[in-house]
Amino acid sequence: MSREAKKNTEELKQLAKDNGADLFGVADLKEIREISTHPPDLLSGYRYGITIAVSLDRFGSYETATEDQFAFPLLRRISGIIVNHIIKKDHRALAIDPDKILGENIEMRNLSEISHKAISRAAGIGWIGKSALLITPEYGPRVNITSVFTDMPLIPGMPIDCQCKSCMKCILACPVQALIDSSFKDYPRKIDQVLLVNQCKEWKDEQVGLTCWDCVLACPKGRSSGPK
Ligand code: SF4
Ligand code: SF4
Repeated sequence: MSREAKKNTEELKQLAKDNGADLFGVADLKEIREISTHPPDLLSGYRYGITIAVSLDRFGSYETATEDQFAFPLLRRISGIIVNHIIKKDHRALAIDPDKILGENIEMRNLSEISHKAISRAAGIGWIGKSALLITPEYGPRVNITSVFTDMPLIPGMPIDCQCKSCMKCILACPVQALIDSSFKDYPRKIDQVLLVNQCKEWKDEQVGLTCWDCVLACPKGRSSGPK
């Protein structure tokens, strides 16, 4: 382990936490080689993906408005601070927006530049659950996440396999049976292995001005910090 990489990682973690991050991790991008990106060369020249998470439990409300008004702006601010710090140290850094979609039609709404969840899992801050969400030990799925790519030498974490075991709470909570009870060791290779995306989106669109949080709020992981 290089001393420089250890120092860089500790400095970035502290910077993220000092500016409001609840979780911080580093993924070796070799771990996400199979993940598609838009554009395809998005990760070219980068070696690590930094994952930053903000818990929704701190806001005490689970709504899209909470994400839009508080969590996403905070994540954008923290990732901007991280990028500036890395660039000042003469390395490359690229922040990916936490909530950017590639277009408004139903096909493009399902796409983003990259899966932030894949970076978080590869960094070891959580696993992909049967709900297709990132599940963190501390806050369950009640987190928003974002990513920064860099070539700065860092110490990556270890990817986590699925820890859901026999739990089925999210599957049983889904009002439109959009979640499929499938078993996978590390992560589902295709989203439709676990989630009927259009069924979920159509249900969310019907909740005028709201969305659906049933699978999020059903998850027992990290309950000590969240809703009882
Ligand atoms: S968000 Fe709602 S509809 Fe979609 S999978 Fe979760 S519980 Fe089902
Ligand atoms: S509710 Fe249970 S099965 Fe679903 S993601 Fe959480 S731990 Fe996994």
